[in-house]
Amino acid sequence: MKETLEKRIHEQFPRYVEALETLIRIPSISFEDFDKNEILRSAKAVKQLFESHGFENAKFLTPPSGRVTVFAELKTKPSNPTILLYAHHDVQPTMREALWETPPFAPEIRNGRLYGRGAADDKSGIILHLAAVTQVLALSSDRMPNIKMVIEGEEESGSSGFAQILKENKELLKCDGVIIADLSNFDSGVPSITTTLRGMSAVSVVLKAMKTPLHSGSWSGPIPDPVQALCKMIATLTDSNGNILIDHFYDGIETPSKEELQSYRALDYTEDKFRKEAGVLPNVNLFSKSGDILTTLWRKPSIVVTAIEAGSRTQAGNVLQDSAYARIGIRLAPGMAADTCTLKLIDHLKKICPNGLELSLFTEDGADPFTTDISHPYFGLMKQAMTDAFGTEAKYIGCGASIPGAQLFRDMFGNIPILLTGLEDPKCNAHSENESLNLSDLERGMLAEALFLQGLCK
Ligand SMILES: [Zn+2]
Repeated sequence: MKETLEKRIHEQFPRYVEALETLIRIPSISFEDFDKNEILRSAKAVKQLFESHGFENAKFLTPPSGRVTVFAELKTKPSNPTILLYAHHDVQPTMREALWETPPFAPEIRNGRLYGRGAADDKSGIILHLAAVTQVLALSSDRMPNIKMVIEGEEESGSSGFAQILKENKELLKCDGVIIADLSNFDSGVPSITTTLRGMSAVSVVLKAMKTPLHSGSWSGPIPDPVQALCKMIATLTDSNGNILIDHFYDGIETPSKEELQSYRALDYTEDKFRKEAGVLPNVNLFSKSGDILTTLWRKPSIVVTAIEAGSRTQAGNVLQDSAYARIGIRLAPGMAADTCTLKLIDHLKKICPNGLELSLFTEDGADPFTTDISHPYFGLMKQAMTDAFGTEAKYIGCGASIPGAQLFRDMFGNIPILLTGLEDPKCNAHSENESLNLSDLERGMLAEALFLQGLCK
């Protein structure tokens, strides 16, 4: 059975890559200042893809933002389980376009990787699901679970309307298990199931001293510089070893179990490997050493200034700036709560704001961390399917990033198994320039998911 599926997927693989390229050509960036029509165009292309592959009831589920989620389903036998397959069709902005070797929305294959914005995150997830389902179905509809495809349109901008979509369509989306194909493999060729996610939140800070910028020669001295003041505030967030200094910030963190620590250790991840993959310069000292890099990435919180602005580099002159801006992003470990941690950060910033400067704070929708119980048989089945498809033992790993949808599915459907899979790898540059996808992993991932789906209906 595996051989037949493998052969079919291999034969039709070029066609699936073409479909993926078609999706990549649409710049479906879901950030506020980008054209929402592109999200709609992308949603239409995804819907059309499902319709042309025999899915039924294909339609748009529209959140308040208008960045639509695409739904489509496949009904086989009521006695077969129902699996919801999630991916997202929106993408991140391109960052510095000049640094792309080929334009972000003109897909190109080089050295076995497909380059383009969304190639890995997460248009690959859509094609992965599509191929797995259609190939199993072509062999036997008896051995095919009922399928509900849910392809979100605003994951990259925080999934602000996704909870509402789930609530309004609870009956339509009811299922026995979920596969979220939006995560990473531990390495190229090393299939992985992610069992924990960090949560996230962000606060934007504007610190203001005057009504307008002033000539620094005529006016500086008596007036506190808002740029330095903001830097001092930021400097109080962590100590020189990266430990967060906000009161009670670490409260509630779950310690990883013995089994989890064991499986992290078994991955044998070294400081050298991390330095290489992250491109850390040789003289930079890390806050974590070989033994605990993975625990730090997956099970500890972090604070990062994700953007900072005061004046402009291209017009830098002798100016006392009127204000300074920074966006402070936090990643939360399992056991922490996004709302509570955002409030702790806000309280801290208010307490330390110096010299009576005017402080404005803006919050965004956060996401809570996520953990899953791998004792459900679906996990063992997926691990075996991945191991068979890749010819390498599949791993249970954690992830330092956030997928708001994971916890939302949990909130809506209770304790059903939620499997976090995906095709990113350390080289994929998701969210950065020159994003790419390992095509051999895409093909093997299709086979893994197909074997899993088939295995559900024995
Ligand atoms: Zn993603």
